[in-house]
Amino acid sequence: MTPAFSICVYCGSRPGTEPSFVQAATVVGHWIGSRHGQLVYGGGGGGLMGTVAKATKSSGGRVIGVIPHALAEKESVNDDGCDELHMVDNMHQRKFMMAERADAFLALPGGIGTFEELFEVWTWRQLGFHNKPIGLLNVDGYYDGLLAFMQNTVDKGFVSDWQMDFVYQSNSVETLLPKLVESAGLAKAEGMKAI
Ligand code: AMP
Repeated sequence: MTPAFSICVYCGSRPGTEPSFVQAATVVGHWIGSRHGQLVYGGGGGGLMGTVAKATKSSGGRVIGVIPHALAEKESVNDDGCDELHMVDNMHQRKFMMAERADAFLALPGGIGTFEELFEVWTWRQLGFHNKPIGLLNVDGYYDGLLAFMQNTVDKGFVSDWQMDFVYQSNSVETLLPKLVESAGLAKAEGMKAI
């Protein structure tokens, strides 16, 4: 069965300190899975990544993991939990394939890897390389500092409001995910731009 939609989720390879982070990753996975959606993610078995993948699969969704060989040798890979697991040569191929296979992007709490992935698709969006929506789930105020800093980049003249508008922010899964899926549908209708 063709998935109803495909969302690429970027999030921590660790669970973080707050139970609310794991809880949010579980809710996101259930939201995707119970609507017959598809998760595209980094293929790891641990942290919030593993949580969102397991929750998607256990509630009926489809899971695509994309991981470089070198990382797969070092880290736990979600071998059994992926419908498709792609082993690629490097991080660039990985991020390209993840972006290509998704209709929308969602960042949950995470670290440097998560930031890089979020900022990359944000950069590509502002340059017009794709028109897929991007969401930031601000669980328990985790991203408050980043959002304040981003406002500073606007105030200091390096970023414009229209660039900020490319990222939908919310602390609620029930607000953010329908918005992402709806916007992805509109972007598809307009003709999804290739990455
Ligand atoms: P971080 O936020 O630094 O934990 O990095 C998590 C993000 O980077 C995920 O969305 C992954 O795509 C990628 N990543 C980083 N570490 C790993 C790992 N050990 N296994 C799989 N993917 C990872």
